[in-house]
Amino acid sequence: MALLTLEGFSDEPLQDALELLTAAGFSADVEPAREIYVNRDLRMNAISWVGFDMDYTLALYHQDELDALSVRHTVDTLIEHFGYPEAIRAIKPEPDFAIRGVVVDRKLGNILKLDSHYYVGRAYHGFQPVARELKKAYQDERIRLSLDRYVLVDTLFALPEAFLYAAIIDHLERDGDGAALDYMQLYDHIRAAIDLAHADGRIKRDVLGDIPRYVRRDPELAQTLHKLRSAGKHLFLLTNSEWYYTSELMSYMLDGALSSYPTWRNYFDVVITTAKKPWFFRGDDPFLLLDELGRPLREEQNGFIRGHVYEGGNLNDFQRKLGLRGSEVLYVGDHIYGDMIRSKRDSAWRTCMVIQEMEGELQKRDTMRAELNAWYALDHELAALNSDLSAHRRVLERLDAAYGLGTLDTALGQKVERARRDLKRHLDLLGKRRRTALGRLIDLDLEIAANFNPFWGFLFKEGAEHSFFGGQVEDYACIYTSRVSNLRQYSPLRYFRARTQHMPHEL
Ligand SMILES: [Mg+2]
Repeated sequence: MALLTLEGFSDEPLQDALELLTAAGFSADVEPAREIYVNRDLRMNAISWVGFDMDYTLALYHQDELDALSVRHTVDTLIEHFGYPEAIRAIKPEPDFAIRGVVVDRKLGNILKLDSHYYVGRAYHGFQPVARELKKAYQDERIRLSLDRYVLVDTLFALPEAFLYAAIIDHLERDGDGAALDYMQLYDHIRAAIDLAHADGRIKRDVLGDIPRYVRRDPELAQTLHKLRSAGKHLFLLTNSEWYYTSELMSYMLDGALSSYPTWRNYFDVVITTAKKPWFFRGDDPFLLLDELGRPLREEQNGFIRGHVYEGGNLNDFQRKLGLRGSEVLYVGDHIYGDMIRSKRDSAWRTCMVIQEMEGELQKRDTMRAELNAWYALDHELAALNSDLSAHRRVLERLDAAYGLGTLDTALGQKVERARRDLKRHLDLLGKRRRTALGRLIDLDLEIAANFNPFWGFLFKEGAEHSFFGGQVEDYACIYTSRVSNLRQYSPLRYFRARTQHMPHEL
């Protein structure tokens, strides 16, 4: 770690102590994949309540196993209920294909990745990139996600539906069975099949039947929650999952992890299941007190009883019962819409987003350091060339304007004419250099992006812009990180500071 050394300050004793700590097994630095990143300043000492979502936040899933399970049930339903051919059973999961933030175009049967300005960067039809001419159909318009034709894939739960949509189109059209494929209907069938598999409890039953296969037990989670509690924070659980499922998963993750907490419920001051987020943030559903078997006992008018479990509820009652101001709450979740956007728009809650994909993304960044540095150098060169070109063009415009008036005396007129010729030659050369640098940058960009994800490139970027997903994370998550237990590496009183942002004219 490079530390800033002030004049007259010797950092030798400090370095000495750090080296000894490292030798004694204390890790030197937080590795990038486990860091907490900051979009908006957050003072943890102003936070008195920390809330957690469960699925994909406290409980991280083995994504490939859960996807395979979801795909299997959905394919079964498509064949049995909707008459799809048996041949679609041959579809094999393709873990890289669906990523968060892609958009399904139900009208044309395509999957799109947008930049943060809602323009299409990449598009696939089946598993084939959409041809250049067809891609033009998207180029003149920002994608209006409010239109019925588009569906945003914004949770990890929804990845299998995007994958299956592409896989079935690919499969049926490749075999010539898809001549009359109705893309809208196909999507609706997949959606209905997945909903059915969730609604009749098949998927949850399978997960509960073999929890270690589907859920990652984070050995640092218990210590993380304990550390927050030791600093005087109150903790709450706010999940859309039902009581029976919540209870089994939370037991698996936390029961017996620390002797001072006999069960997972001892970590939390309030537990709310079936919360119906995002409705929770705007609605007025009452809190229902549940009995030990998860059956509703009564509406809870007053405060919460510690150690009991609730269902439903709403933001206003939650804050009123606890006598809280919204800005004292930090909510940790993974769903950009249900957890981040709604809590940000409808409440004053601060937000921490868990993005489990970051670990893989940052590890790959590390292995591609040399290529990324070359990319940054080229990008820098290109910016310098662009600024040079535009400065020279402004001078040429000035010369052209003066020359065009036709009022210059002969000697000055000749000088201006010669300067214009020289400048145009120079501009040609700069233009050529710019094209070469741009070509190299695009090649390098493709090479690097393919290494991250051969279909979509970076999760957080699209071309030179933030991806749609990256832009939403920046707008709605005060801080973000790859898993909850990364909080353990920071003081519970930490002041998370965002970097100063600059607009282009300020640089
Ligand atoms: Mg979740």
